[in-house]
Amino acid sequence: MRGTNHSIMGLTTLGYGAITGYLFLTDDNISRQVKDCTVAVRDFLFDNGNLSVYVFYPLIFILYMLGCLLPDIDYPYSRIGRIIYLPIKHRTWTHAIYVPAVLLIIGIYVRCVFWLGLGYLVHLICDSFSASGISWFYPHKNRHHICKLYTTSHISETIVVFMYIILLIVYCVFVVL
Ligand SMILES: [Zn+2]
Repeated sequence: MRGTNHSIMGLTTLGYGAITGYLFLTDDNISRQVKDCTVAVRDFLFDNGNLSVYVFYPLIFILYMLGCLLPDIDYPYSRIGRIIYLPIKHRTWTHAIYVPAVLLIIGIYVRCVFWLGLGYLVHLICDSFSASGISWFYPHKNRHHICKLYTTSHISETIVVFMYIILLIVYCVFVVL
């Protein structure tokens, strides 16, 4: 998936998360336990620690969006690779589970890093839907496909991104009305 589309998918995924949180907290049909879990997740994600909220919120947003692009650091023509390039084979170590796992674990203690890991994970999940897939457990070479939805830089990629946005709008209307 191209960098711009990774950014759009990252933003749209934030939208899904926000609306789902809103739904869980405001819908009377949702059980007390789910509401409590939602509050716990929200409090965890937005725990700004010692940082001012004016620093924390822009910082987690920037780190999340950076995470959405970071795995393609192994590709010299990618959005991030043109700035900083890691000369290893594309879609190998940077597209496995290890980096986001480490980031998310560190993020339990340093919340900003958790957001970087979340963005990174969103990138990998998006790439998992591509025809070429990724190796989640590289160097174990089996390419894992959640499902082959699109081919990179093909019209099918644009359609998938477009549909993801449309579904968000439908979901938003469904929840708010
Ligand atoms: Zn990628």
